[in-house]
Amino acid sequence: MIDFRSDTVTRPTPGMLAAMQAAPTGDDVFGEDPTVNRLEQLCAGLFGMEAAVFCPSGTMTNQIAIKCHTQPGDEVICEQLSHVYQYEGGGIAFNSGCSVRLLHGDRGRITATQVKQSINADDVHKPVSTLVSLENTANRGGGSCYQFTDIQEIKQVCLDNNLRLHLDGARLFNALVAKHETCGQYGTVFDSISICLSKGLGAPVGSVLIGSGAYIKKARRIRKVFGGGMRQAGYLAAAGIYALENNVARLADDHAHAQRIAAALQKKDFVDEILPVETNIIIFEVKGRFTAPGLSAILKQSNIYAIAISSTQIRFVLHLDISSSMVDETIRVIDTL
Ligand SMILES: *Cc1c(COP(=O)(O)O)cnc(C)c1O
Repeated sequence: MIDFRSDTVTRPTPGMLAAMQAAPTGDDVFGEDPTVNRLEQLCAGLFGMEAAVFCPSGTMTNQIAIKCHTQPGDEVICEQLSHVYQYEGGGIAFNSGCSVRLLHGDRGRITATQVKQSINADDVHKPVSTLVSLENTANRGGGSCYQFTDIQEIKQVCLDNNLRLHLDGARLFNALVAKHETCGQYGTVFDSISICLSKGLGAPVGSVLIGSGAYIKKARRIRKVFGGGMRQAGYLAAAGIYALENNVARLADDHAHAQRIAAALQKKDFVDEILPVETNIIIFEVKGRFTAPGLSAILKQSNIYAIAISSTQIRFVLHLDISSSMVDETIRVIDTL
């Protein structure tokens, strides 16, 4: 099976499993799991921020982040296709009691001007704008990356208007590798950063929320309320440490694989627009002979799995468990269609 449905499908490698098995553990709700503590310190250090908290999922880190930055009745500003709005079960309303101001961005990315125009005036009729949430890379933007200078401009608007800035960095490491940027840069502009260890980095479980000491203290309380306090989580944290130490640079291989597959798709008469491939995601429009679900079904007959994300769009996601020979095989199949 060649599984392009998501970069969450990876299984731990023998090296990662060995690291998990060797991990010293304790009860993390008591703060006594040395491996969880090590992962949290490692992440805080990477970003030059004060503290971090390990959570079971990226949905939880995002939702905790939003909860800690807002009060009920506040408004969160984000792009219309963003994960925090589209794929977290209405959590912004459910968990934080906030309304959302949706911006129509460019492949998932918004600008400082758009943010500025969407901040509510200080008026009793209006929800209070308190938080901007960005996504980098932007999943529904086809793995698009922000220009760092654009983020800095958004940060300035936030500073000028007393708004906080959160990053959904589920695939931040893909952006860092593609743009030759560093974690440290991101630590200087965001009030909170959520990263996923279970996407391209290849860990089976886990996300980390990073921020100031006071903020993460509050986040730890909310994690408990949300049911995310785990016990001997060091086995999972060890996978995360292994992923950060071994699986970041190789994301460039996934990006190169995505380019090769996109080039093969480009030649086909049933492929309409392919969103620019910047990282490990390919999103393209299907036309003519096939519908998106139809093409997905045909690929499946050749053991290639890709999701139809709408009636006209298919998404391929590259990851650690897709080898270059699997990419060769995929291109061979595409060529025959
Ligand atoms: C996967 C993902 C998340 C977190 O998802 P979980 O499955 O809850 O870990 C958050 N944001 C984006 C953009 C994602 O792709």
